[in-house]
Amino acid sequence: MDTITDTRPCTVVRTRDELRAAIGALRSAGRQVGFVPTMGAFHDGHLSLMRHAAADGHAVVVSLFGSPPQFSPTEDLSAYPRDEQRDLALAATAGVELVFAPPAHEVYPDRFGTTIRVDGPTRTLEGATRPDHFAGVATVVAKLLNMVRPDRVVFGQKDAQQVAVVRRMMCDLDFDDVELVIGPIVREADGLAMSSRNVYLSPQERVAALALRRALDAAQATIDGGEHDPRKIERAAHSVLSAEPRCTPDYATIVHPDTFVVADNLAEPSLLCVAARIGPARLIDNQRLTLA
Ligand code: AMP
Repeated sequence: MDTITDTRPCTVVRTRDELRAAIGALRSAGRQVGFVPTMGAFHDGHLSLMRHAAADGHAVVVSLFGSPPQFSPTEDLSAYPRDEQRDLALAATAGVELVFAPPAHEVYPDRFGTTIRVDGPTRTLEGATRPDHFAGVATVVAKLLNMVRPDRVVFGQKDAQQVAVVRRMMCDLDFDDVELVIGPIVREADGLAMSSRNVYLSPQERVAALALRRALDAAQATIDGGEHDPRKIERAAHSVLSAEPRCTPDYATIVHPDTFVVADNLAEPSLLCVAARIGPARLIDNQRLTLA
């Protein structure tokens, strides 16, 4: 175990045995555990989730692990931004007490043969274009929940469909003792949703990426102007994305936030999800729509 000292000590464990011992020590000290699964490359969005996890004095455990099935064919796991020392220092400033940073074979040993496929919210949007992505997410989240056994797990609304898939999986597989907490999207001052992938953007692409925020705003403005046809509202968002030369829109779609079924009429709750490629990065964003 290495110990990093910043504002508070943050212990790093790399094996399931070390994790079990460290969690056991927290439990013996009477602590409840809040858990934040991450792939690293921390920004303020991640740190805000860690602070949510710490509410009511919970000890915060963070995992630093990106598993190969979570990445799309065009996205290379080995190219994902990685700076563990920086991440550990940031986690310590957010009050994290324990970081689980296992090597891949610790989580997926030889002869590993189980995959969790979640039906329902995986059918549309990200699930339609990346069929294995959510199976990778559901499998690794279930494994991490079993390894950490937290009282609370925190995910970000930034990945709204991931939230719906994890919620479905936790319900279907009876993770009843774990409270699922969703942290709001943390944005840069100009409205761009924080993402580890934003570092891939050139200065011009960084400006172009604001089209996602503008697309969400345009949709809400269309509703505020009296339009209730979901397809017309989606077109208003899509046309903002297409108007930006450096932006290749993927989708602008209104769904139910739990089922991710595409809305055939505008009712609350409705979630507008947008995805677009800007230069080398594929960015996503979303917003709840409010009816006047
Ligand atoms: P990642 O390491 O990208 O898999 O993200 C780890 C967690 O941080 C996930 O639950 C994400 O939804 C969440 N997250 C990522 N970006 C943001 C953001 N801008 N605001 C809030 N949460 C975020």
